[in-house]
Amino acid sequence: MARFSRRHFIATAGVLATVPLLKGCFGNPPGPSSQSGAPGTTGSPAAPVASAVKPGEEPEVKTAKIGYLPIVEAAPLIVALTKGFFAKHGMTEIKIEKQANWGSARDNIKIGSAGGGLDGSQWQMPMPYLISEGIITDKAKVPMYILCQLNTQGNAIALASKHKGKGLGVNLTGKGASYLKELASSGKKFKAAYTFPKANQEFWIRYWLAAGGINPETDVDLLTVPTAQTVADMKRGAMDAFSTGDPWPNRIVSEGFGFTPVLTAEIWKAHPEEYLGIRKDWVDKNPLATQAILKGIMEAQQWCDNFDNRKELATILSAREYFGVPEAVILGPLMGKYELGERKVDDKSLAVLYWKDSKGSVSYPYKSHDLWFLTESVRWGFLPKETLANAKTLIDGVNREDLWKKAAISLGIPAADIPTSTSRGVEEFFDGVKFDPEKPQAYLDSLKIKKV
Ligand code: CA
Repeated sequence: MARFSRRHFIATAGVLATVPLLKGCFGNPPGPSSQSGAPGTTGSPAAPVASAVKPGEEPEVKTAKIGYLPIVEAAPLIVALTKGFFAKHGMTEIKIEKQANWGSARDNIKIGSAGGGLDGSQWQMPMPYLISEGIITDKAKVPMYILCQLNTQGNAIALASKHKGKGLGVNLTGKGASYLKELASSGKKFKAAYTFPKANQEFWIRYWLAAGGINPETDVDLLTVPTAQTVADMKRGAMDAFSTGDPWPNRIVSEGFGFTPVLTAEIWKAHPEEYLGIRKDWVDKNPLATQAILKGIMEAQQWCDNFDNRKELATILSAREYFGVPEAVILGPLMGKYELGERKVDDKSLAVLYWKDSKGSVSYPYKSHDLWFLTESVRWGFLPKETLANAKTLIDGVNREDLWKKAAISLGIPAADIPTSTSRGVEEFFDGVKFDPEKPQAYLDSLKIKKV
């Protein structure tokens, strides 16, 4: 009886859900149901699906509050909700909440849902570690678990149009590097921005510059710019570059004030990008609901990864209540078609990927990738050198790849798609530098430009 009622509710909610979603595509205000406060109506509610909850595995709660940022990394969360994958696994009342910026996500996770904040969110790395250790939360330690990776690739570094034709490409060595150094010596130091410091966006900029012989500490100015200000600041010349996720780099090209010299997929193919992290106290209290969330996201990731679904994905994401940008701006990057300004890319293998990439699993959270982010944090002096000696303990306390595996097995994911090691092995970057997770200090020693 209970199951019939739930199914009936989901089916009803699904019919209502299509109305605001379609409206959103044409730029109209979201329909009334998105403000109704009814279960599952943050964003569009679930589409009708049959429950896949096995007897004895009913989640402890049907809801959780998960934050997201309006960039392609968030697609698995939005699709798990709108296509009904969360509901299918019993999370019929889950809420996903758009965050104004990364700082808001951090503040809301610190408060927790009991205080009007969040239980979990999408994260750049190593934010879940910095929150767990109290480093970005005013010393308040809020233990977090990393549960899955949401995506790989789909990010880029965008530059203002005035720097076109100056040799600023994937590889800066030579003309591009000389140009940036000339700017510094003539008192017009190049300003490169990111929306949150000491995480992915800053790491990609620093890696790219340093690989090209530019010292990010001295040859350029690095700064944090609020998300809402990035486009305006670039337009008025207050900054020269910014690092961000799709569809923003394409957008600056389509709006005619910038270009994109490098995709992150060209810096490090199949690189780690953003993750789902939930508060430890919530996961420990709700282990079955955590499994249900993971299964919903895994199914959403498989759906998002299928290029046949990406037109529909662009429609879903473009809706006003999610990204609120024209569908065409999102569809290009989703299909691996990048208008970069000085060149074009048409290569699905460089697009954002959600489930499988050239190295295997996207969704599985490799501990070796967490170690790279911690090592890179040491490289630039963001974390003390001693971090490497304690890295294993730190990572084992935050990265719950064991919970990912449990959910994957329960979902019937083929064994071949479930990694057998917590390390992806040696990683190679575009400049030939290698990171061996067994020898992080050797990686640091090999780098010519670093702060440590
Ligand atoms: Ca990103």
